[in-house]
Amino acid sequence: MEYEVIENYELKKHTTFKIGGCAKRAFFPQTKEAFIELLKELPNPIVLGGCSNVLISSEGIDADVILTTKLNNFSIENNKIFAQCGVKAPMLSKEAESKSLSGMEFMIGFPGSIGGAVFMNASAHSQAISDTFLSCHIFDTEKKEILELNKEEMNFSYRTSVMQKKPYILIDATFELRPDDKNEITSIMNRNLEFRKDRQPNLTLPNTGSIFRNPPNDSAGRLLEKAGVKGLKQGGAEVWTGHANFIVNTNNATSTDVLILMNKMYNEVKEKYTIELVPEVKFIRTIGVSKTEDELWDTMLNKK
Ligand SMILES: Cc1cc2nc3c(=O)[nH]c(=O)nc-3n(C[C@H](O)[C@H](O)[C@H](O)COP(=O)(O)OP(=O)(O)OC[C@H]3O[C@@H](n4cnc5c(N)ncnc54)[C@H](O)[C@@H]3O)c2cc1C
Repeated sequence: MEYEVIENYELKKHTTFKIGGCAKRAFFPQTKEAFIELLKELPNPIVLGGCSNVLISSEGIDADVILTTKLNNFSIENNKIFAQCGVKAPMLSKEAESKSLSGMEFMIGFPGSIGGAVFMNASAHSQAISDTFLSCHIFDTEKKEILELNKEEMNFSYRTSVMQKKPYILIDATFELRPDDKNEITSIMNRNLEFRKDRQPNLTLPNTGSIFRNPPNDSAGRLLEKAGVKGLKQGGAEVWTGHANFIVNTNNATSTDVLILMNKMYNEVKEKYTIELVPEVKFIRTIGVSKTEDELWDTMLNKK
């Protein structure tokens, strides 16, 4: 079968945060058929794309992981774009630009895959992946079957989709874009990149994007800044001094460092504004391996 498998794979090699212990086995399928076979055969594998929205436990994961990086076929026909789940979002944004298609300019600045972007309903600069989404193929890991879902069935809303509630894995997706003036598309993309330069750490300071979701009608960054958390440190992790909703890994931070820091941020905002921030980052772990981490995470999900 067309896949590579590596035992005891250190996931921090792959995450934008440069944090994460070993997975039991890491699978890299090269074809859709191999991906589906793995999804059928492996019990509860964790599927990851660009690993740019995850905090992976430094204690490791007692599970198999499927990394979609080699599932990177795409095609463009008229104003429709088809992409497998592992296609890199910024690359697809550039391809759309080259064909004078508008709707993906927002994806130029973040290092995710199409699978992660659909799962998260990634968005920025008043555009979201749901805006151009037409349909997708998913694998239902409970029923072990492939389904085709349309936009309505995806239940997209702010940073979520049906995929976060059901046992669905994205195989590929089709988008419908709008033909527009290429210079205009290029200038929007340049503006988006310029905007990020000042407000987000680049990946030379390993990070995983926004830590908390924006609460309704407010901004997590604004609340955190007013709560005075910028520059707070825990082990090798630090709240970025440029924007209070980012944690940067300055010196071999562990997942526990990040979770302790997240709890401090969460508590400061809760005490000052009685607002309970909700993590945007997905914490990937095996429950029970680190009680400390389980407790820190559950506190923020209001389970304790
Ligand atoms: C510097 C920086 C800037 C960022 N800016 C933004 C931004 O402006 N807007 C924004 O929305 N996000 C932003 N992010 C976060 C992140 O890049 C996006 O959410 C991205 O879409 C996640 O994609 P990924 O492939 O990296 O997902 P991963 O981190 O690999 O996974 C995220 C979640 O998606 C699931 N997943 C991944 N692939 C699949 C699949 N094929 N099927 C089912 N589930 C899957 C994973 O299991 C996990 O739960 C930023 C991140 C960084 C580091």
